[in-house]
Amino acid sequence: MSEVQEIVKLSAAQMAAKIRSKEISSRELVEAHMQVIESAEPTIKAFLKVSADEALAQADAFDQKLSRGETQDLPELAGVPIAIKDMIVTKGIETTAASKILEGWIPPYDATVIEKLKAAGMPLLGKTNLDEFAQGSSTEHSAYQTTHNPWNTDCVPGGSGGGSASAVAAFEAPLALGTDTGGSIRQPGALTGTVGVKPTYGAVSRFGAIAMASSLDQIGPVSRTVLDSALLQEVIGGNDRRDSTSIPMPVPALAQAAREGMKRDLKGLKVGLVKELSGEGFQPGVEARFNESVKLLEAMGAEVVEVSCPHFPYALGAYYIIMPSEVSSNLARYDGMRYGLRVMPPADVPQTAANMMSYTREAGFGDEVKRRIILGTYALSAGYYDAWYGSAQKVRTLIIEDFNKAFEQVDVLISPTSPTTAFHFGEKMDDPVAMYMNDVATIPANLAGVPAMSIPSGLSDDGMPTGIQFIAPQKHDEVLYKPAAALEAALEESWNGPIWQSMNTPWLDGLHK
Ligand code: GLN
Repeated sequence: MSEVQEIVKLSAAQMAAKIRSKEISSRELVEAHMQVIESAEPTIKAFLKVSADEALAQADAFDQKLSRGETQDLPELAGVPIAIKDMIVTKGIETTAASKILEGWIPPYDATVIEKLKAAGMPLLGKTNLDEFAQGSSTEHSAYQTTHNPWNTDCVPGGSGGGSASAVAAFEAPLALGTDTGGSIRQPGALTGTVGVKPTYGAVSRFGAIAMASSLDQIGPVSRTVLDSALLQEVIGGNDRRDSTSIPMPVPALAQAAREGMKRDLKGLKVGLVKELSGEGFQPGVEARFNESVKLLEAMGAEVVEVSCPHFPYALGAYYIIMPSEVSSNLARYDGMRYGLRVMPPADVPQTAANMMSYTREAGFGDEVKRRIILGTYALSAGYYDAWYGSAQKVRTLIIEDFNKAFEQVDVLISPTSPTTAFHFGEKMDDPVAMYMNDVATIPANLAGVPAMSIPSGLSDDGMPTGIQFIAPQKHDEVLYKPAAALEAALEESWNGPIWQSMNTPWLDGLHK
């Protein structure tokens, strides 16, 4: 095995340990990942923009600090590089949300999470692909390119954060950030065999996250191990006065919970299996792997009981009213006036501001984004508001109550993350409702603002990864990490190693230092 392969297959925590023991520098880590990116991108297409120069400069600055002994106060992941979903603004680096309407836009500021990564000495490898404005479940709605699933490059990586998930799965990055409004971190996590976390709403600042549906959006970690996500969430989490929905409380001890979990003792933990998130529509291979994980949780001492959340079947319907309503309002800012694309009407059309806006929005937005703006505008319109938006908000309250009742009975809830494994390109593009069905299991957590995580639970009969989801009560993200880390350890023992060892990675062949 060449050295580059050995380096990039380490977990982020292992990379960090090698940095501290001076076995490897941050620059060497960035260089190794740049080699993989160069070799993988022609097939994977996870990145919209690779920021090699910036990453190397950040790595050098960190390495110098380390040599001067000035890094003791930095987080454990200091010096480890990371990829960023292009839904998060990065000062001086083009940020498009995979939309034509923001093509060429260079943000004049950093998102809070980016400031925190920079302060931690974590180099930014580049910006990853997504469905336009994070709207989709396959990354096929990007205005620029289609990202491929490294497990089978004829299949989608899930979405909207397919770029971040594929980059981490393909070893182009050890870590990434995503955004999750209805599942866009967890569902691509399940489809690519990676770990993805949607923290408690308000636990990670949304300042500088491009707004999709503000009451649902949340930034969170993407990684190959549970511990790596814990360490990353500790870096990006915490209160921020620039986000009015940010929770004023310290970040819980997430890495400690993950390390505790690795001891594989779950005695005293009560786990609730959500009855409504199984059965019809769930692929047999997904359910089979899920049931095996349940057995492992029980073998480690957890008590698993079935829990009913009777309003969950209405979650998808409520989400597809509330989310487009907020989308229609948030995306009104792309009007060709202040920044981004501007398309002037042809000469024979009156040169008014209103006409300029409609020509700009016609050219700048893709079909799915237009569909949601129209849906949301309709749901919010006078005369329909109570029937649609009002009813959906009532359903949202019932779902929150379902969670409250469930968490009176159990500590943590589980379900499959996604009803199916990765599907082929084009399979669901002409059927928006089939596409929306991918998120049945992930959406309830967004509606209630509770934290949730997906970890790989094995390979289905088609050889593609499946995911298991953990859901915990609000502000108790640490409750996710212990059982998830325990299950990860137990699964890896049963597979004789991490899930990715059964993935073919021709793009890593022949890479040398
Ligand atoms: N797939 C869902 C949607 O299209 C979720 C998107 C997201 O979480 N950003 O709305």
